Amino acid sequence: VRGVVASDGVRAMMESALTARDRVGVQDFVLLENYTSEAAFIENLRKRFKENLIYTYIGSVLVSVNPYKDLEIYTKNHMERYRGVNFYEVSPHIYAVADNSYRSMRTEGKDQCILISGESGAGKTEASKKILQYYAVTCPASEQVQTVKDRLLQSNPVLEAFGNAKTLRNDNSSRFGKYMDIQFDFKGAPVGGHIINYLLEKSRVVHQNHGERNFHIFYQLIEGGEEDLLRHLGLERNPQQYQYLIKGNCPKVSSINDRSDWKVVRKALTVIGFSENEVEELLNIIASVLHLGNVQYGGEDSHACITSDIQIKYLPRVTLVLSVFACLHLSLTFLSLCVFHLQLMSPLNLEQASSARDALAKAVYGRTFTWLVNKINASLTYTVYTRTHTVDNVFSSFEQFCINYCNEKLQQLFIELTLKSEQDEYEAEGITWEPVQYFNNKIICDLVEEKFKGIISILDEECLRPGDASDLTFLEKLEDTVGGHAHFVTHKLADAKTRKVMGRDEFRLLHYAGEVNYNVNGFLDKNNDLLFRNLKEVMCMSENKILTQCFNREELSDKKRPDTAATQFKASLAKLMEILMSKEPSYVRCIKPNDSKQSGRFDEVLIRHQVKYLGLMENLRVRRAGFAYRRRYEVFLQRYKSLCPGTWPNWDGKLSDGVSTLVKHLGYKPEEYKMGRSKIFIRFPKTLFATEDALET
Ligand code: ATP
Ligand code: MG
Repeated sequence: VRGVVASDGVRAMMESALTARDRVGVQDFVLLENYTSEAAFIENLRKRFKENLIYTYIGSVLVSVNPYKDLEIYTKNHMERYRGVNFYEVSPHIYAVADNSYRSMRTEGKDQCILISGESGAGKTEASKKILQYYAVTCPASEQVQTVKDRLLQSNPVLEAFGNAKTLRNDNSSRFGKYMDIQFDFKGAPVGGHIINYLLEKSRVVHQNHGERNFHIFYQLIEGGEEDLLRHLGLERNPQQYQYLIKGNCPKVSSINDRSDWKVVRKALTVIGFSENEVEELLNIIASVLHLGNVQYGGEDSHACITSDIQIKYLPRVTLVLSVFACLHLSLTFLSLCVFHLQLMSPLNLEQASSARDALAKAVYGRTFTWLVNKINASLTYTVYTRTHTVDNVFSSFEQFCINYCNEKLQQLFIELTLKSEQDEYEAEGITWEPVQYFNNKIICDLVEEKFKGIISILDEECLRPGDASDLTFLEKLEDTVGGHAHFVTHKLADAKTRKVMGRDEFRLLHYAGEVNYNVNGFLDKNNDLLFRNLKEVMCMSENKILTQCFNREELSDKKRPDTAATQFKASLAKLMEILMSKEPSYVRCIKPNDSKQSGRFDEVLIRHQVKYLGLMENLRVRRAGFAYRRRYEVFLQRYKSLCPGTWPNWDGKLSDGVSTLVKHLGYKPEEYKMGRSKIFIRFPKTLFATEDALET
């Protein structure tokens, strides 16, 4: 078709193709002419966002911008369109990533994982749901598999009810980390799954910041629960009645319908295979946490007691469920000590008694959540993603410290794997290239996790030290030990400017994603995560079967001190990294367009910040270090063979010879491309554009 003199019609077509590119930007950032320019990067995102094109690639990494509105791009038709096609043949989509991962698993027999990252509200949970839905619809299924598919899908509303909450940043924010495994049989049908949960934000059960809520399930139960059920649980249909629900002063959220969500969750519990009995016991626990929150103390400062009207009103409710009235009553106001085989009872002061109550509520909820995940796992007995919180300057406390540490580790994995796979590809194809300089955040990971001298070790040491150990002595220890580290600052160590924005009880970490101040208040307590022994004993006596599974006697007889929260978290992260390293990763990088949850608003400052800390520019640089573009010989030849009489209509010889003939005919200069073992590598985007344009004529 080449050589036809362009008629006006054809010229118009060419022009419209060009203007289309101008208007909607490029669908892969590697095609940007000015690929080192952050401004060009953002401009490309903006163009696409305005056209509702929320997905763009950086090579095989998918960048997604939350549209904050429902787009018509998740229909069955769309799913069909992405089945079995190559990345570049269709516009970028989360389905393409899902499909590609699935196909690599099937054709190469390698385990896959999809890592989704981004800040709170960027769209990680939604992305993971889209992937799950894609598999549910497109994977083959027998009748037995249908059950697994249903359960996988239904596990989401249940986990979200118990593990998500309204925060300032996201009306449906996941307050736990999740890794979900999907197992496929040899035919490619999903036959099972497994979920690992990380670090639920338990403190939310007893306290919420202004404008935030407790976990959804509480409101769903109160708003949606049937009359009989509420009466049975002794609950009133008014969240304002419960101390644990009013801290944030935000019982209703316009984007959330607690009543209809309740119906969905209630049904999902049944689909997953919870018996009526189990559901009843589960809801008993949820209700008793609310009643427990209403147990208020009076009396003298030094000896708390539960005021009598409250005793009559709420404690029986709690104990009805937990079935341990006298003991619980005592345990909430006394600490039992065992000294030289003598059992002593020591009264708690007001503050101690309140924190004993809150510790119990957190422990009961936290363990019930783990029980729930295990129960779902049992119903799914037989890979694919995680969610992370990212650097979040508002709630910088112990939990945030753990979450940011997790992000730091995931970033490290990303750096290692993307750079490594790029390098491997050049090697496999026999092409030489220059390594790219990038910031390796290993130094920050070490600062946090190194044995003996990392922050976690120092924290554990303070937790174990008897005597005057406190949050502030922990801070001093940090200054003594890691004070010289380039990524660590405290008020004392800071320069005058930084000192102004730091409290005396804070330390600052320079994360790869930005600086975060952490207030040390509560670090020791949260790391110890202690529940008075007598409260544990009481829970073991409960008649509630879920609770007896959550609190078992073995734990009481175990004299060894349990691992601290940070150490447990470190160990579970190490395990996660091991799992992820053994799989072939795909990446989805989610970006939040604005802080007001609005559609159509592209807040450039906010976006630039995310582009920076997600390391997208570096990612692009690495990807472009050698060649902007690469394609397998057969794919390249198939697409462009019509442009050369020598290869049209069919090429019978070696594929690489065919491609050589073709590109020579097209006038590619030697510095513009390289021939690998199975792929052609093209250095500049404009070369490929010219070839694409030639196709149009
Ligand atoms: P967190 O870290 O707080 O859990 P997240 O990254 O999981 O945040 P999501 O809950 O997935 O964020 O997304 C927040 C909200 O943004 C969703 O409830 C939804 O309203 C909207 N949203 C996200 N992705 C999409 C999408 N692809 N299409 C339409 N709306 C979306
Ligand atoms: Mg989420």
